[in-house]
Amino acid sequence: MADACYVHVPFCRSICYYCAFCRWIYDENRIDPWLDQIQKEVHAKSISHLKTLYFGGGTPNSLSESSFIKLASFFKPYLDNNYEWTVECNPEYVTQEQAALYQKLGVNRISLGVQTFSNTKLQAIGRTHSIKQVTDAISYFKKAGIHNISIDLIYALPNQTLEEVKEDLAHTFALDVKHLSIYSLQIEENSVFGKWHILPCDEDLEADMYETVVSACVEHGFEHYEISSFAKEKAYSLHNLHYWSDQDFYGIGCGASGKENGLLYENTKDMQTYLKEGPNPVYLEEDNAFDAIMMALRTSFGLNVDQWQQKYQKDFHTIYQNVLRKYMPEYLVYEKPYLKPTPKGMEILNTILVDFLDVN
Ligand code: SF4
Repeated sequence: MADACYVHVPFCRSICYYCAFCRWIYDENRIDPWLDQIQKEVHAKSISHLKTLYFGGGTPNSLSESSFIKLASFFKPYLDNNYEWTVECNPEYVTQEQAALYQKLGVNRISLGVQTFSNTKLQAIGRTHSIKQVTDAISYFKKAGIHNISIDLIYALPNQTLEEVKEDLAHTFALDVKHLSIYSLQIEENSVFGKWHILPCDEDLEADMYETVVSACVEHGFEHYEISSFAKEKAYSLHNLHYWSDQDFYGIGCGASGKENGLLYENTKDMQTYLKEGPNPVYLEEDNAFDAIMMALRTSFGLNVDQWQQKYQKDFHTIYQNVLRKYMPEYLVYEKPYLKPTPKGMEILNTILVDFLDVN
């Protein structure tokens, strides 16, 4: 039975130009029916206890105080003693009162969507916050007693230079947060950028930017524990570790994904359908054994080969002997029972995974 839960809050007050997530423009009339549906979904799941709870979006902190309290009340009874409860927040909606409310309700981790520290670039990607709102938001949460704060950054933005990425990193390090998630911009077809035919960043420049991100984070005391994630003082995202270590998790809400009994599912992304009929999950036919390898090798902790063999009843070393011979020990190392990517291996992970996939 799963002990992690992702709740998708699909409402946003404005749409970022790069966004291809399931999100809907905030509409007060939809909030109560949406909350009713979420409550029904929770009841149908027979959740026993939760180690991690994650409100993602969309923009969870665009909800009013009363709506957020109601949403929280559906999940609070299931939280373990030692839980991690993350809420994704957009800086422009964070107030001192909101930070205090979240702390009072028991939220103990914040993931703040910062993306860049250039006001010009923020406007160019359709974000509606300012740098001042970022620093204010962080100080409100810290003052309220929530110190486990993660920042999301995006690099390879349109016309961004390597120097500008370095500047974003310097601003980030000055904020004294424990966790960073840093992604390169992907131009998705159904985003505004996709429709505008914005060209992706030059591949070599993007690779240089990634290298710069990794080395700067490591120099500033962050552990590079997952391809795009960095932590100080072992403040890993415990919720995301569920995804990367092939564990089940509930996915609740319109646009959420989950995994139950080893099967991945996606709830409907259509709000009308969700409000009328509920989540209507579609179960995906995935190669679970390969997925487990792919997700685990994203992390520096690697794949527990013994557990994998037991779960999938396959002989890992025999099946993948050629891939292992090709990449060990420079890019992959085996520290029984874990197969781990080396820092160099993380840099070329996609290439390594293609070779794993080809064996299947
Ligand atoms: S990127 Fe996040 S905040 Fe922006 S529109 Fe998409 S879901 Fe909303």
